[in-house]
Amino acid sequence: MALVCFPFKKEHIPTVLRNVEIATNHPNVSIVLLAAACSNDCFHEISKAIAAKSASSDPYPVPVRVEVQERLGVNLRPGKGDGMNSALRYFMKAHTLPENKLTAPLQRIHFYDADIESFDKAWITKAEEGTSLGYDVVRHYFPRSSTDAQVTWQVTKVGFALLWPRTTLPWVQQPLGGELCFTRRVVEKLLSDQRVVRQSNWGIDTLYTFVCAQNGYSLLEAYMPQGKMHALYGGLRDLKTMLCECFAAVQSLKDEHVQSSATVHRIDPPAAVPESITSKIGYDVEKSLKLLRENWSDRQMELLTLFPSDIQDGLLAASEWPEYMFMDEDAWIRAYKVYLDNFVLDDEDWRELLFKTWVARVLNYTMRHVLRGYHVAQQANTDMVMKLHMKRSLAA
Ligand code: GDP
Repeated sequence: MALVCFPFKKEHIPTVLRNVEIATNHPNVSIVLLAAACSNDCFHEISKAIAAKSASSDPYPVPVRVEVQERLGVNLRPGKGDGMNSALRYFMKAHTLPENKLTAPLQRIHFYDADIESFDKAWITKAEEGTSLGYDVVRHYFPRSSTDAQVTWQVTKVGFALLWPRTTLPWVQQPLGGELCFTRRVVEKLLSDQRVVRQSNWGIDTLYTFVCAQNGYSLLEAYMPQGKMHALYGGLRDLKTMLCECFAAVQSLKDEHVQSSATVHRIDPPAAVPESITSKIGYDVEKSLKLLRENWSDRQMELLTLFPSDIQDGLLAASEWPEYMFMDEDAWIRAYKVYLDNFVLDDEDWRELLFKTWVARVLNYTMRHVLRGYHVAQQANTDMVMKLHMKRSLAA
């Protein structure tokens, strides 16, 4: 008895409909929910297509609902967090709605990004198998291009290793992954936690990962060897909102305590990475070089004085000429600590400064590690987090 949810905002409609078709035909799925960001054109077109299929001579084998997300957060931007939390609320009450014809409360909710082109029934099966084995949470993980996942590596994994080194958090493979499955007791806990319900923006994935670890829920990370083929972003600037919101989510938790107990956490072994992924470049390097010089203000120059002098000097130089070799792992971690103490999410100067610091970090990583090949780059990411985790664990 599972619900599969696809949160969506504006996506390629045939891909979404194809994914709905796959989910509705899975034997463990009782209902599919499309959680829409708003009633935009994409919402109307998808609703129309679902209604037509449902009324046809060949309807879906299970109910498919299209619902606009509720406004659950208060202060933060309404975004994917409201979408996912609205789906959790729908999941809890789905069996009480007569139109769904469900005979018992649903036991598991799965989330999959609506734009996954490589989605197939194996994603659902692996998560279902994990929960049948008794895991509270199953997260999917998959190989990614070495220039992808730079919010995950530089922000979330570094933050987890810095703040909660002796816990399971730094070991979570893809803590911002949107493909995951929760059992009912986890959903109950998440919805009773105001930190989660308030997290209406991109920070929701951080909160789900963190709160599950803090509550000691067992976690299986299921490996999907085919990777996640999905719509690509243009330049790094597209990621600015996500970067700032994911950083602020970690920052909002920095004083929280997580028990360093032996939470059950299994990670499926990964397999050889296909060439289509090892050879892919995830962002436009030339365009990103220009970002370092953009949108400087006098106030950002003032804020720079809070940083160690080598970082100040480096960013000042970068405002004139694309310099980034100063932003190595060590400098990034020192800068990260300054942001943890001072960053303000709704202050545009802080957002822009964090963004440029991160661009310098991503360029540094690209030129020093990605150039030497996929595996060297992945190793450099892992080393950065694991060295930090070890150093902080020993100091704790
Ligand atoms: P990425 O995969 O992390 O780059 O993020 P995407 O932009 O692909 O978004 C992940 C999924 O969340 C996609 O299915 C989006 O359509 C969906 N999404 C993004 N923003 C919102 C939102 O505000 N509300 C809802 N309901 N879905 C959203």
